[in-house]
Amino acid sequence: MTKKSVESVEFTPHAHWVGDGFHVLPLFANKAFTPAVSPFLMLDYAAPEIFPPREQPPGVGPHPHRGFETVTIVYAGEIEHRDSAGHSGKIGVGDVQWMTAASGILHDEFHSREQSRKGGPVSMVQLWVNLPAKYKMTKPSYQTLLAQDIPVIALSDEAGQLRVIAGAFNDQQGPARTFSPLSVWDVKLEVGKQAHLPIPKGYRTLLALLEGEISIGEKAYRKGEVLFFSDQGEHIEISAKTQTKFLILSGEPINEPIAHYGPFVMNTQDEIRTAIDDFRRGRMGHLAA
Ligand code: MN
Repeated sequence: MTKKSVESVEFTPHAHWVGDGFHVLPLFANKAFTPAVSPFLMLDYAAPEIFPPREQPPGVGPHPHRGFETVTIVYAGEIEHRDSAGHSGKIGVGDVQWMTAASGILHDEFHSREQSRKGGPVSMVQLWVNLPAKYKMTKPSYQTLLAQDIPVIALSDEAGQLRVIAGAFNDQQGPARTFSPLSVWDVKLEVGKQAHLPIPKGYRTLLALLEGEISIGEKAYRKGEVLFFSDQGEHIEISAKTQTKFLILSGEPINEPIAHYGPFVMNTQDEIRTAIDDFRRGRMGHLAA
């Protein structure tokens, strides 16, 4: 079995606000929406941040999406979502919201009312996952994946834990239904420990380091860095220099053209124009006030 090697590293120093509720680092901004990250599109990370108590929940008001999926993992606090397809849900620490926009939805994303009233730390990631062309205009859907339904694998030598959100780890299957072969693993590795992680052959593989410091081979990597691995090889070897938290994203690349404009991800500019037009004409539905 050959090891995957680190081919490049991305670091994005500047955070920006999404609405007034999510202060995020776009973790691989320079490679977002390119084949290098396929089947994924982009990844926003809101590091833990304390919000003062307030009556009106912070967040982002109604906006559309078409052609892909948004995946939100909560690390601290509680987040609420509503969409024009009639789905709604509240997710707390360890829970995941897997929203398939497909042919188009309108939704809003806020801190929950309770979270907002009491204030306190909020931390999350939002990952955008592309859809193969044949699924882009299918019916929107929604999955709430609760922490209790996500398998937690204890890594050997008490090295830490790996949560299988999507795809599989060895023979443990994660709960997310996906439209192309991919894995999303949420990992904690303890100081001084090592992990040996098998990755299916040919999967494009990224590691997003959310907390702590790791080393791979001779090189050290720090919080906020995203590592891109070679497509060749079937496993990765990671050592933790401190307590760490990271995501491993891997999957079969979707070898189709990407046309991206704001909240729409299609295959051609024509389809983008149609998306903008459909949104303006109210064809992506409506949200109750
Ligand atoms: Mn959204």
